[in-house]
Amino acid sequence: MTRQDQSWATAWSLEYRLPILISVLLACAVGGLSLAAYREVRATTIDRATDVLERVQHELVAGGARPNIARVQALRALANDDAIVRALASGATAAEVEKRFAASRESHDTTFVAFQLASTDGRRTYGTASGWSATDSAQLAATLAGAVRNESDQRSPFYAVGEQVHAWLAVPVVVKGRVVGTVAELARVGDNYGADAVIRALVDDDARMLFTSRGSAEWVSFRGRPVAAPFALPAVHDKAVRIDVPGRGGVYVVQSLIPTTPWLAVLSQSERSILAKPHDFLRRLLVAGLIVLAVATVGAWFLGRLVTRPLREVTEAASDLAQGDYTRRVDVHGGGREVGRLASMFNAMAAATGDAHAILAERNAELQRANAAKAQFLAMMSHELRTPLNAIGGFTELMELGLRGPVTPEQVEDLGRIRRNKDLLVAIITDILDFSRTDAGALTVEMEPVAVAPLLTDVVDSVRNQMAAKGVQLEVRPVPADAVVRGDRKKIAQVLLNLLSNAMKFTEPGGEVDILTVVDEGAVRIDVRDTGSGISTAQLETIFEPFVQVDASLTRRAGGTGLGLAIARQLTRAMGGTVTVRSQLGAGSTFSLTLPRAELLPVISPPEDRRTPREASQVV
Ligand code: ADP
Repeated sequence: MTRQDQSWATAWSLEYRLPILISVLLACAVGGLSLAAYREVRATTIDRATDVLERVQHELVAGGARPNIARVQALRALANDDAIVRALASGATAAEVEKRFAASRESHDTTFVAFQLASTDGRRTYGTASGWSATDSAQLAATLAGAVRNESDQRSPFYAVGEQVHAWLAVPVVVKGRVVGTVAELARVGDNYGADAVIRALVDDDARMLFTSRGSAEWVSFRGRPVAAPFALPAVHDKAVRIDVPGRGGVYVVQSLIPTTPWLAVLSQSERSILAKPHDFLRRLLVAGLIVLAVATVGAWFLGRLVTRPLREVTEAASDLAQGDYTRRVDVHGGGREVGRLASMFNAMAAATGDAHAILAERNAELQRANAAKAQFLAMMSHELRTPLNAIGGFTELMELGLRGPVTPEQVEDLGRIRRNKDLLVAIITDILDFSRTDAGALTVEMEPVAVAPLLTDVVDSVRNQMAAKGVQLEVRPVPADAVVRGDRKKIAQVLLNLLSNAMKFTEPGGEVDILTVVDEGAVRIDVRDTGSGISTAQLETIFEPFVQVDASLTRRAGGTGLGLAIARQLTRAMGGTVTVRSQLGAGSTFSLTLPRAELLPVISPPEDRRTPREASQVV
């Protein structure tokens, strides 16, 4: 495992992922539930708040209407009063008129600050005018005119006079179906200190009751103070609606017309104050959620450690096992029954693997011993065989040369046959000796940079005459100058010679053999192509096995042991190269020897040292 793999595995191991996953899930759940609960509470709170606003407004307006109606009735009574009618018709005394007004004020309302009695022709005018301003007079004139014109009760809109807000109420005096004058009273609006506290108690500290009247820009507080218009009035009456007020946010407003008057009562409460409780609820919910989340995260982290520690121990043990430590066992505490079973299964598997490995190692050692013995036997045998054969060769030559006395031409021919068979036998024994050496692993290669061109020339020269004698045409394509391989010069020559001899052996006279050298990025490939008998697809792999010959009769004719390619393969493998073949039956074969390029591989240790036998056998 590389360091990068390890850091990845640590960063994303279950030990970390579990608490993160649980925390994320819990955070989503807490967040979602809090939001849903908040929305529910918010909607309910707004419903309740608007309901309270509407009910309080209804009560206040109904309560506020009663004194107004009573006031109108009192003023109507004055309009029908004999003294007032008389005063308008002929001339009751001012004192008498004032007495009537005073009596009316006392019995009904103390907020009426002035009165006025006027005939339609403007002649008779009685009035008390304490605190009666020019604005009051102007408003009075308009209200009186309205009452005469409409022949009905008339109220002026609110209007501010200094720190107070006033309004006129005028009732026509009708005698025999004709309006002869009016009675009017000036009322100070509001002035009701107790009601403010009642509203705050019923609704909220933030609730506010204001009055205004149709057609007037004046607004007045419950205490009778003129105030600036707080917002544009909504179109809806008697229902709480939300309006946006720049700088103040949302405000819930309910407005109602006070019966018998053009006056509007407007009760409002800011959304902020309505939502104060839901917001507080949400805050507390989130704090509780965060505490739960923190506790759960710590818990999940502990849980993750508890679950993953035994798994990690098993993983580390498996890694040790993979690296050859067959004595490694796991001793797991915690993690539950499943992990316990995993640990015991692992231990059983490690024990079985260890046993199997020990048996294999023992068998392997036995095999190596046997192989070495076989190689030694073969080497000894071939040496023992070669000695008498050399003697046979030597004496045959002596006889051939006539050094042992005269020989007939037939005898010379026979002696030649004896010598050729002896040479063949020596060649076979040499092959067997070579193979036994390579097979026993006793092969040593001396790696050095080897230029392909001169080597090829040497090898080709040694077979050129034989080729020509057989009538096989040989062509060597130009070798690239940078074709330099790393390998053992003699071994490369031996492999090439084997490939060339085979090409010649299995190509009939008139055929062709050509050699092509190709330089690749990291390797040099030498192709030996012939137009000979070719090899069937089924045989292509087996020809590299020792003692395999495709057509024994043909080979017998051509000579050979079936060891050439096996040896070539072993030698090439020892140099870090490959031998491959492409062939088609009847259409010739191409054997390719590929070796690493010299300049790209400055240091090459013998490949046998760094490759397992299994890897090497796959390469060839
Ligand atoms: P041998 O000593 O018999 O040539 P090798 O191992 O060199 O042994 O070759 C094994 C077999 O592969 C040969 O017997 C032959 O059947 C086949 N063979 C090898 N080279 C060629 C070739 N160039 N064309 C056809 N067959 C070949």
